Amino acid sequence: MTKNASTRPIPTRFPEERILMGPGPSPVPQRVLSALAAPTLGHLDPQYLAIMDETCAMLRQVFQTANALTFPVSGTGMAGMECVATNLVERGDEVLVCINGVFGTRMKDVFERCGAVVHVLEATWGEGFTNEQVAAALAIHPHSKVVGIVHAETSTGWHQPLEGLAEIVHGHGALLAVDAVTSLGGHELRVDEWGIDAIYSGTQKCLSCPPGLSPVSFGARALARMDQRKSKPQSWYLDVSMLRKYYTGGGGGGRVYHHTAPINMTYALREALAIVLEEGLAARIARHTAMHQRLRQGLEELGLTYIPSRSLHSLNCIRIPDGVDDAAIRTALLRDYGIEIGAGLGVMAGKAWRIGLMGHGATIRNVDLVLTALRKLLHK
Ligand SMILES: *Cc1c(COP(=O)(O)O)cnc(C)c1O
Repeated sequence: MTKNASTRPIPTRFPEERILMGPGPSPVPQRVLSALAAPTLGHLDPQYLAIMDETCAMLRQVFQTANALTFPVSGTGMAGMECVATNLVERGDEVLVCINGVFGTRMKDVFERCGAVVHVLEATWGEGFTNEQVAAALAIHPHSKVVGIVHAETSTGWHQPLEGLAEIVHGHGALLAVDAVTSLGGHELRVDEWGIDAIYSGTQKCLSCPPGLSPVSFGARALARMDQRKSKPQSWYLDVSMLRKYYTGGGGGGRVYHHTAPINMTYALREALAIVLEEGLAARIARHTAMHQRLRQGLEELGLTYIPSRSLHSLNCIRIPDGVDDAAIRTALLRDYGIEIGAGLGVMAGKAWRIGLMGHGATIRNVDLVLTALRKLLHK
């Protein structure tokens, strides 16, 4: 006889909480989690559209941009990367990608999948690029239509300066596309002042929201490029010419359904952004700086050293000392202290630990806890 499945309830599963100090996700405040539980609405409900508009307005503040086309792409940070790439290039277009870690490497792959011919400017992992190096690469590849660069290379902890770069890129008739997944909300990032044409981020790093949306912003040059396209972007889902009719109501016909927006994730992002703006961008960035300095001092007192010569504040990439068992320490941190830190990625696997101090996780409590735990575990 078949059993009647409805007679036996299946209990809800709630995982144990962790202290998230890896490369993302970062800890999420209860106010943001509670927002996920608000009533789901239709994607054209005026109440929902008001929340979406507010969310986009707050994103403009956090990106420090007046770009009308600023919205959360449905999907994680990688969806934002694909959205920027697929909309800015057509088959055969030349692109220059700066590679000094995993995410620059991915950017090349993504642009190539969109049909671009990708030239590469490489730097050692843990180092970055000067504006002069980018200028020299553009002189060698003068037909490049886009320059792609990672602001916060999460795989190595390198913090890439961006001031003055757009002038060089624009001087060659190219657009500047920036990966700001691990910097938005934790580091100085001035989209308009720095002349960035297209940028994407993620919700689960310094914004301290669950993963699921990728804030993007496109400036006037990027819009002009998209309007001049002869072919459609290879991705239907990420085609900005259609998405903008929904997110900005642009196109004269009012809001047009494209795909069902992740309604409850938008509520969460709105609350996460409200928390950022309540703290104040400048104060939040200063907190990330102070917590990085506190952690750095403690790690150096333990004899640990940083890999990048210019470190992010949101992500601290340190060398694993000789003779120390990488996996054993990370397992003990998780099991005995509930702390998650990141392993090395790519060529850094087995060689690095990555300690994230992002958003809600960048606190004295977390810094001192991870230092205490590492001190005990390394002395065993
Ligand atoms: C995390 C990250 C991504 C990818 O984001 P997902 O949310 O994992 O898709 C892209 N770029 C950088 C620099 C990142 O740190």
